[in-house]
Amino acid sequence: MLLPMPPRPSPALPAAVLAPGMRVAVTGGAGFLGSHVVEELLRRGHRVHAVDDLSAGSVQNLAAVATHPRLRVTVASVAEAATAQVVCAAADAVLHFAGVVGVRRLADDPLGVMQANQRSAECGVAAAAAARIGVLFSSSSEVYGRGRVPFAEDEPVRPGVPEGPRGSYACAKAYAEWLAFGHAARAGTPVVVARLFNTVGPRQTGAHGMVLPRFVQQARAGLPLTVYGDGRQTRCFAHVGDVARALLDLAAAPAAVGRIVNVGSDDEIAVRALAELVRARAGSRSPIETMPLAAVFPPGFEDVPRRVPALARLRATIGWAPARPMTAIVDELLAVPHRDATAPAAMTASG
Ligand code: UDP
Repeated sequence: MLLPMPPRPSPALPAAVLAPGMRVAVTGGAGFLGSHVVEELLRRGHRVHAVDDLSAGSVQNLAAVATHPRLRVTVASVAEAATAQVVCAAADAVLHFAGVVGVRRLADDPLGVMQANQRSAECGVAAAAAARIGVLFSSSSEVYGRGRVPFAEDEPVRPGVPEGPRGSYACAKAYAEWLAFGHAARAGTPVVVARLFNTVGPRQTGAHGMVLPRFVQQARAGLPLTVYGDGRQTRCFAHVGDVARALLDLAAAPAAVGRIVNVGSDDEIAVRALAELVRARAGSRSPIETMPLAAVFPPGFEDVPRRVPALARLRATIGWAPARPMTAIVDELLAVPHRDATAPAAMTASG
């Protein structure tokens, strides 16, 4: 009689993506979020390799840590398989932020945005698996599309209707989530997928959408604050410093391995109320100007009416509580010396 084969023991997964003293590669390490993650990793004692092709990031973002003895910066694209392989072969973990974001970019070039995110993810997660190291993959709340709030991780993704451009970014991110899980399962390596909600803070540019830096810049310059649509759409904004800490806590948490976890704030604010808050905190006399969506975005480009994360999983995993209220975030941004590449005049137009 043929006896059933005993199940093959699966190789034990490392307890978490990140452990103390690791060599950590950060793809997109010169970007807005990536650079804050690099700083936080250095604070926590890791050796850090920031890799960025500067298509969306800037070396300026790493200015505060440029001479740090445990930081190495390479200008290269992890959308090139060979680059991703070399980077991962010399690391103990990879935190993947390489990609292109911004609603303005998405509206202008949906195909390019989709392909950039898809390619960097394909190469990044495959190289991590080949090197047998763990990955934290940064995904996006865009994968929830126009679903029911609060957005919970166990709900199906909704990139939208492919005839419209907005879903292309969400589609690339959702695809990359499956890739990350698939490669990790095959290689027996740990993976965490973080779905990021609206993240704000110093070094964020308003050049590609990103409502808060735009409002801050407009209020400072005495220009109209441009509210798209009726301004009743809502978002929840978390400070990038809080988000960077949450991401590293997740990467170090055994309970996060193999999971998708929302990361952000659930403090909801309407865009019109945000404009009023910025104007008041700035002591600005800028008018608030509503602009129909059709005047700003191409036909078929939809806004997300409400975006609120379910945070139960994040709280259960790392005990998360975003530290900074909206007023404090706005005050901090108003106090930061301004160095956005976008000329104030350009901010009155659609982007
Ligand atoms: N928005 C706005 N004025 C601007 C830029 C954005 O009213 O100058 C709105 C945008 O339509 C959206 C919200 O602010 O409803 C957040 O936009 P952002 O591009 O920051 O991120 P999203 O959450 O849409 O990815």
